[in-house]
Amino acid sequence: MKIALIAHDKKKNDMIDLAQKYKDTLSQHTLYATGTTGALVMGETGLKINRMKSGPLGGDQQIGSMVANGDIDLVIFLRDPLTAQPHEPDISALLRLCDVFSIPLATNVASAEIMLIALSRDEIPAHIK
Ligand code: PGA
Repeated sequence: MKIALIAHDKKKNDMIDLAQKYKDTLSQHTLYATGTTGALVMGETGLKINRMKSGPLGGDQQIGSMVANGDIDLVIFLRDPLTAQPHEPDISALLRLCDVFSIPLATNVASAEIMLIALSRDEIPAHIK
């Protein structure tokens, strides 16, 4: 599957922890990330990640465009719900496109873990893959 990883600044450590914990599973898939998230996760885990621009500079929109084109199958977007983001419109647009195209979207660690566990057990239903 093609998986996108995005984490707001206060959630980047959570994303690194998640990627370390599920590294074996993630390594079997094609990974994409916004710029800073991708650099940090690659640096800490050694996973190969295709990096887009940083989120505030258009990275969320790039990933949204991939979702619209059918090039992303699952999104893990660890949002910071307690901090205002300058690129809020881009974030909303990405979340909306995930719903438009019925793309699995985890916006917190617990949801992400459930998805990654299902992925690691190959328990994603075929019509969702
Ligand atoms: P970043 O972007 O990974 O480049 O920090 C994430 C975001 O803020 O949307």
